[in-house]
Amino acid sequence: MKKIEPFSLDLDFESGKLSFYNKKAEIRLSDLAPYAYNTKVIEERLARNENPVIYSYYDRVQPSTIGEMNFGITIILPGKIGDEYNFTRGHYHTNMEPGEIYIGIQGEGLLLAQKRNGSCKSETIERGRVVYAPGDWNGHRTVNTGKDKLIFFTIEQAASGHDYETVRRNGLAKLVVEEDGKPKLIDNPKYKP
Ligand code: MN
Repeated sequence: MKKIEPFSLDLDFESGKLSFYNKKAEIRLSDLAPYAYNTKVIEERLARNENPVIYSYYDRVQPSTIGEMNFGITIILPGKIGDEYNFTRGHYHTNMEPGEIYIGIQGEGLLLAQKRNGSCKSETIERGRVVYAPGDWNGHRTVNTGKDKLIFFTIEQAASGHDYETVRRNGLAKLVVEEDGKPKLIDNPKYKP
């Protein structure tokens, strides 16, 4: 793999825009159907030709060799899928047990971090807050519990690898739902340990 040289770029703390990225994705409501608790509400919205972007990410990825780091911005739009706050698909890391750092830029949300044994914890993501997920808590999902965009910066090892399939198949142990106007963590009835 070609060696890279030191570089720098700009991050706009208001918009979350990175001046350069080399990987971008937009994830729509339909893409979240296998991951959501309330699949019926997704079917109904899709039937009304409602398929909004739920989140997007803009990453600066490096060669995926040990020692290199990837970083980037994730933007989750506000809203809910049924009672469940808009969320990212979630993944486990595959290649080792890598830690990950999340830095809140705008909005309010949560990181769900889960161990392979099903232990699950949440940490608040908000402007100026730094969240660390240790290596063995490597099931990750982020959730926008606020009324505005949730924007955060992530830093992870380039060789981390992402396993979306296990989350798609088994779910995560907890869901973040709105109850009496506030976010609440509940057990995911569809979770398969
Ligand atoms: Mn992760």
